[in-house]
Amino acid sequence: MTNISAARQALSHLDIEKSQANIRASSRDFFWYSPVLKPRLDHVVADFVVRPRTQDEVIEVLKVCYAHNVPVTTRGAGTGNYGQAMPLAGGCVMHLIHMNAVKEVKLGRVTCEPGVLLKDLDAHCIAHSGQEIRMFSSTWATATIGGFIAGGSGGVGSCTWGSLRDLGNIVRLRVVTMEQEPRVLEFTGEELARVSHAYGTNGIITEIEIPLAPAYDWVEMFVTSEDFGQAMAFADDVANSDGILIKLASVYEAPIAHDYFQRFKPYVTQKDNLIGLMVAPHSMDGFKTLLKRNLGLTLIYRSDENDWERGPGRVFEYGWNHTTLRALKVDPSVTYLQVRYGFPEHRALVEKMRTEFAPEVLQHLEAIRMDGKLGFAGLSLVKFTSEKRLDEIVRLHEEAGAIIFNPHRYTLEEGGRQSVDDRQLRFKQEADPKGLLNPGKMIAWDDPDFGYDSMYVYPKIQAAE
Ligand code: FAD
Repeated sequence: MTNISAARQALSHLDIEKSQANIRASSRDFFWYSPVLKPRLDHVVADFVVRPRTQDEVIEVLKVCYAHNVPVTTRGAGTGNYGQAMPLAGGCVMHLIHMNAVKEVKLGRVTCEPGVLLKDLDAHCIAHSGQEIRMFSSTWATATIGGFIAGGSGGVGSCTWGSLRDLGNIVRLRVVTMEQEPRVLEFTGEELARVSHAYGTNGIITEIEIPLAPAYDWVEMFVTSEDFGQAMAFADDVANSDGILIKLASVYEAPIAHDYFQRFKPYVTQKDNLIGLMVAPHSMDGFKTLLKRNLGLTLIYRSDENDWERGPGRVFEYGWNHTTLRALKVDPSVTYLQVRYGFPEHRALVEKMRTEFAPEVLQHLEAIRMDGKLGFAGLSLVKFTSEKRLDEIVRLHEEAGAIIFNPHRYTLEEGGRQSVDDRQLRFKQEADPKGLLNPGKMIAWDDPDFGYDSMYVYPKIQAAE
């Protein structure tokens, strides 16, 4: 029997949230990006929120909640997009905001706690020895490294370094299990896949070791072209130029920049496709040479020579899922899809989807290395009309050969490749025998025979009020 009040009472000496409004706020993430998830998850709220300060306190929370059968959903900063950090069955939200120490920086690596913000981690490594993290979500300013590893996939830097799941992009994770006597385990190599991008369903990450790269004062730029094909090809070419070091190459089909990027109005027209770039200072000569070879491209902004009356801010805060955020602010009927366009068909496939769906679907592409080959992650903007039409657009992409990671689902499987990750499931059986960690997010745990022919509905989701 679940005994919420006994668990809360037993943890009352820790930092426990008292305000109901804050408990509600700490139970939400960016699920509302999805018109499919919004009505289904809007009512979800934890019974209590606790903020441990140390790994020992994490262990205490897990032990107490295990004893009283209370579900535990871990929270970094709650910037995930698919209800990942939302307590579907209520219970405890364990917010790791206090566990934000950077423990050690060495040449090529850093060890830290999970609750440190990506921007603070970067700042620490730069100040320590001129090093920076290889990749980060565009929520760099607000998201935690633990949430990025447990809930994210890649982002700024993925054009050079690939995704978080690529071998070498995480060195070591320390993980606490949810058992009568929680164990503390160290994972490296193959074991990392058990808990990375597992939404905290099978263990809590309490220490992280990731690789670093030399830090640069990146030159951030915007380039326009009236020809979408040219804009896409240029981003692809820059990212494939072996001698030019970049951290970002994003492409935005017209009229995204004009209609949704408010500070761009004086500098672009409705016909302008936009490319956002981060280039290392020593690569600028090579970059400018490549730019000159492409007639029709116009450099409209350089962060180191800014002449805009109101500067655009960080270039990466237009990219990845920030594009959707900016579009939503202007037009609440916009939503998005997550698409993979793999090499060597990536450009042809994008053009095919564009021909089929524009302007209902507008292309937003991020250059990303996949198994060493440059392709595109698409975070396409979709004009939402109905769930039926959205499902149809997903199906038509898949039939054309574009892989969809559906952002309108809250389970690991449906947001991934619609298949069970055996490594994550087996580790959950071992590390969370009562199934109390972030319940409702792993279909394989709840319903191994689920057929994926309709959206999974977690049976114990709190009833809407
Ligand atoms: P949360 O949302 O708090 O948590 C994410 C998941 O991890 C949850 O399931 C949570 O339970 C689990 N979790 C958190 N900490 C731990 C822990 N210590 N141990 C175990 N489980 C844990 N994602 C990308 O990958 N790339 C992007 O570029 C990107 N851009 C985004 C832009 C916007 C505007 C928004 C709203 C989202 C974006 N995202 C992106 C999604 C999200 O921001 C990232 O995944 C982010 O890094 C999550 O960090 P967080 O601290 O907010 O995690």
